[in-house]
Amino acid sequence: MAQMMKAAVFEAIKKIVVKEVPIPVIGPDEVLIKVKYTGICGTDWSIYNGWYSAEKLPMIGGHEFSGVIAETGKEVTRVKTGDRVTADINMACGTCFYCMNGASLQCPNFTQLGIHTDGSYAEYIKAPARLIHVLPDKLSFEEGAFIEPVSCCIHASKAMNAKLASSVAVIGCGLGVLHARMAVLRACAPVIVIGDNKKRLNIAKKMGADFILDVNEVADPVAEVKKLTGGRGADYVIEAVGKVKTYQQAWEMLRPGGTLSAFGITGGDDVMEIRPFDFVLGEKKITGSCAGAGPDWPESITLIENGRIDPKPLFSMKVPLEDLEWALHELRRDPDLFKIFVSPEITKREIL
Ligand SMILES: [Zn+2]
Ligand SMILES: [Zn+2]
Repeated sequence: MAQMMKAAVFEAIKKIVVKEVPIPVIGPDEVLIKVKYTGICGTDWSIYNGWYSAEKLPMIGGHEFSGVIAETGKEVTRVKTGDRVTADINMACGTCFYCMNGASLQCPNFTQLGIHTDGSYAEYIKAPARLIHVLPDKLSFEEGAFIEPVSCCIHASKAMNAKLASSVAVIGCGLGVLHARMAVLRACAPVIVIGDNKKRLNIAKKMGADFILDVNEVADPVAEVKKLTGGRGADYVIEAVGKVKTYQQAWEMLRPGGTLSAFGITGGDDVMEIRPFDFVLGEKKITGSCAGAGPDWPESITLIENGRIDPKPLFSMKVPLEDLEWALHELRRDPDLFKIFVSPEITKREIL
């Protein structure tokens, strides 16, 4: 009989069941990882509600994880049992037009661990060995489970490619906080963060943002950003909310010739209005960014390992696997919560 493990299975829309399932069987080029922590992500909420990956259910969720290698396939040489690791979740075919042109995130056969295939809300997860990244000793397992979201911000930052001393406005204070930090690291100024949560905005300020604008207090963020940027608008604007209204604001607060970084995920059918005039005479540009993949991962590790990004102020709580569904709702109820880690190895909630 197959060996069993505990897992939180997304059984159907709005239904998570913690139960015994078989431990994944690894192929010759795969590894089995004993999971330490998995960070809860907005994507998990979308899967839970059936807005994303609904056709994949039942499935074990969880894609921002760290753990220890428990077993390696017989062809695996680059990592070994006992290594502390995380894994790039992006699995592309490697042979199509997009993969051959260095754009693996556009691969039509692209899947992501924990989003399209079984993930890490379990005692074990399997992953292709080629996607494994060993954690430096300095990194905690919690930080190891936070490499994925940082890698997404790195991918967007590289696509946007902000110049030194250029102004950057970030709309959103979820991962927007990290986007602001990335802009500070690129020596952009001023860095302006617009959001609706005081606690998160203050974290952005501590991470180096020059101005924070609370939309509960600032009636017209577009006018305010223009005021802070010599009346022109920002050189770069990052939309990290995912709503048409905030995309529209982002476009309006962008100066002529500026670049909008599209990061927040809207509904697939949402439409924003843009005047072609703004592209032609205004020479405005847009860059998109879907995830962190390939080199974004070791870069994420480097920035955390060397203290350029300290994600610890964003860590809110650890909960046992059994509390995953509770925690998904709690994150909606209490906007002061930022990152909640789920662990199959703990039995009590712990505030960080
Ligand atoms: Zn995520
Ligand atoms: Zn491909």
